[in-house]
Amino acid sequence: MISRRSVAAAVALFLCLAGVAETSFAQRPAARPAAIPSPKSVLGFTPGDDRTIADWSQITNYFERLDRASDRVVVQTLGQSTLKRPLIVAFISARENILALEKYKDIQRQLADPRLVTQKLQRDRLIADGKVVVTISCSIHSTEIVASQMSMQLAYELATAQDADTREILQNTILLLIPSPNPDGVDIVANWYRKTLGTPFDGKEPPELYHHYAGHDDNRDWFMLNLKETQLITRLLWHEWFPQIVYDVHQQGSNGSRFFIPPFYDPANPNISPVLLRQVGLIGHKVAADLQAAGFKGVLTNALYDTWWHGGFRTAPYFHNSIGILSEAASARLMTPSTVSAEQLTRSSTRGMRNASEATTNFPDPWPGGLWRPRDIMDMELIASRAVLSLAAKFRANYLQNFYELGRRSIEQPMKPDQPLAYLIPAGQARDEAVAKLISSLIDQGVEVYRLDRELHMTFGPQVLQRTNAASEKLGTYRSIIAQTTTMQEVPAGSYLVFLAQPQRTNVLALFEPQIYPNRLTPQGEAERPYDVAGWTLPLQMGVDAPAITAIRESANERKLTQLKDANEVRKDLALSLAKGDESPIKNPVRQPVRVGIYKGSLGNMDEGWTRYIFDTFNVPYTSARDTDIRQGGLHAKFDVLLFPSQRSAEIVAGNAAGSLPAEYTGGITDAGVNNLKDFVTSGGTLVCFDAACDLAIKQFNLPLRNVLEGVRSSEFYCPGSIVALDVDNKNPFAFNLPTKLPAYFINSSAFAATGDGVRVIARYAKENVLLSGWLLGEDKLRGQIALAEVTMGKGRVVLFAFRPQHRGQAWATLPLIWNVLSNAAASGSE
Ligand SMILES: [Zn+2]
Repeated sequence: MISRRSVAAAVALFLCLAGVAETSFAQRPAARPAAIPSPKSVLGFTPGDDRTIADWSQITNYFERLDRASDRVVVQTLGQSTLKRPLIVAFISARENILALEKYKDIQRQLADPRLVTQKLQRDRLIADGKVVVTISCSIHSTEIVASQMSMQLAYELATAQDADTREILQNTILLLIPSPNPDGVDIVANWYRKTLGTPFDGKEPPELYHHYAGHDDNRDWFMLNLKETQLITRLLWHEWFPQIVYDVHQQGSNGSRFFIPPFYDPANPNISPVLLRQVGLIGHKVAADLQAAGFKGVLTNALYDTWWHGGFRTAPYFHNSIGILSEAASARLMTPSTVSAEQLTRSSTRGMRNASEATTNFPDPWPGGLWRPRDIMDMELIASRAVLSLAAKFRANYLQNFYELGRRSIEQPMKPDQPLAYLIPAGQARDEAVAKLISSLIDQGVEVYRLDRELHMTFGPQVLQRTNAASEKLGTYRSIIAQTTTMQEVPAGSYLVFLAQPQRTNVLALFEPQIYPNRLTPQGEAERPYDVAGWTLPLQMGVDAPAITAIRESANERKLTQLKDANEVRKDLALSLAKGDESPIKNPVRQPVRVGIYKGSLGNMDEGWTRYIFDTFNVPYTSARDTDIRQGGLHAKFDVLLFPSQRSAEIVAGNAAGSLPAEYTGGITDAGVNNLKDFVTSGGTLVCFDAACDLAIKQFNLPLRNVLEGVRSSEFYCPGSIVALDVDNKNPFAFNLPTKLPAYFINSSAFAATGDGVRVIARYAKENVLLSGWLLGEDKLRGQIALAEVTMGKGRVVLFAFRPQHRGQAWATLPLIWNVLSNAAASGSE
């Protein structure tokens, strides 16, 4: 009821959805207390009905009306998505909590940083007064569309229900409900679904990326913060509200379990507190039990999804002392029902589930198959959301206490001999843009970073991986060592320090340490695939030197340090141009104008999206070269460089099969396109291929190279998303000004051997100590093989990157190689 909400807190929170920047409460039209509108009364259908879909303007419109009509709901616009849609969050709680949101935000801030709590009495009062803050986020993956529709129903029920359980939830928790952290994707899917409904393509997923740059990788960005959406939500969660529980609502494939909920599968990330893992399990089992009690079958726990990887919506919370869970409901066909046969279930297997029709302790009640509707998904997600909130409400003080204690231990934990005191980012690295980006990513996720205003003396050494079991060449094991120097060294002013003694201690470790993924094999001896990548160490990926510090001579009082608050502060320090508004402040690093075409096929390709992201971020101009462009030919008149992001050769040539999608989305570059590419190169063009796309050039143009990893079994070689060392020939113009050792991102990538003359090698995988972070099984297969090469063809050339030089917009260490290739292509083009 708006007329009763005249409190500064609520005023400050309300941001107008209509796009006006910030509207004060007083300016809002005086609405009369009205009945709370149901989703059906606004949309014309009940969310979750077969073959209905609400797009983003309908969803935001509904939440705007709910905000107006209910004194339990306040909606805030966080900012704009990549394609300029409003990104919103709904705060849902009891009226008296909504009126005092600023007070609760302040309590959360103190619980999140126990250094602000000086007395036991103060702590006890915070825990007695506080509310459990819960975030539920829906449909980050846009084809997993049902949760975005569910969000309206959940909000409506919480805004209207009067039962005891709901009242307890409203009293004891504050829900931050995010209808979707990817608004652009909701519309991409809604538009596509409406266009294809009732056609032969009804229920098929759209062929384009559902995030402008990242597609499915929009949930791989939660420590790098490349995307607008992750930046905005990270600010909300880890600078303002510090939720104790984050629930990320997903869907999985159609033919397996009906619903996955934690506990998770192995391996667990060693930096995650065991208390958190147990709390994750407790919530998961509550959800599973409530689903079972409601009569749902096919609920799976302890399978497939692990907690190793950092960077997801549900994994980032662990490194902020919070609980992160996800659920994965079986998908229908977007909003169209599907039918699943018993036989399909029998064939469906994954880590922790032999098949989807066999009862086991972690899967006690298999679903028999049959019709599967969006309504089934939505009902399960509603029950799961309720279960999470209900548990949070019942054990309110317990959640707050645990959260506070984790923060306290992070600060007070005594130093272990094998753990550093801090990480140092030394001044004068000649990688200023990378340093600025690294530090701003850290600050943006709430990690404390200090600048040295005066020199300090430190003992330090690089933290590196060392192979410890050379006896087994294939199954070599690794350990992390800090090669401590024996003498204090002077560290100049202008360097940066990241101390471990801060609430986010585990986040600092998870981002700066090399990861050592355990050797996990199937009973058949093949590598057991991790859920996502095995290694991601951020300074390594970015090519920034960040040694571990084990001692500082000066006492805390003698140090002159300034805590950095934002990215521009760092940019100013490094004399870089400052960010204004939305534009990337980075100067185009390509030394001459060059006409670049980035291949964009008819299949959404995340590597292509990240390539565009990097070019846009560095302000390097390009156009997208489509299948029709390549098929038409005359490429040399339009482009100096054609760049093929990583994609399988067969996909590039054939594209989507005829009849699988509307005609405009089918067909690849075809054999004619391959010939046009050949003409392009022989008449002077530069063809650049990343990783899997190299295969196209090597085989179609008969280049004197062979991928030595092709067809090798995972029992012999496996490297699923890890950082490896390159030896670089920095006399080659492509490696101009680069160190002779570079970290590179390898994700089931390639390695070449020359099979004839004419191969100019710019970089090879290192001859020893190849793995820098992650998992590498069968290192011998990689040692000394070609990682970056150039082959001349006629008047032009083909440049082959065996790895991903721009992986997920994170691998800044190897970006200069791309810019150098472009600079030299321009030079040769103007001959
Ligand atoms: Zn998903």
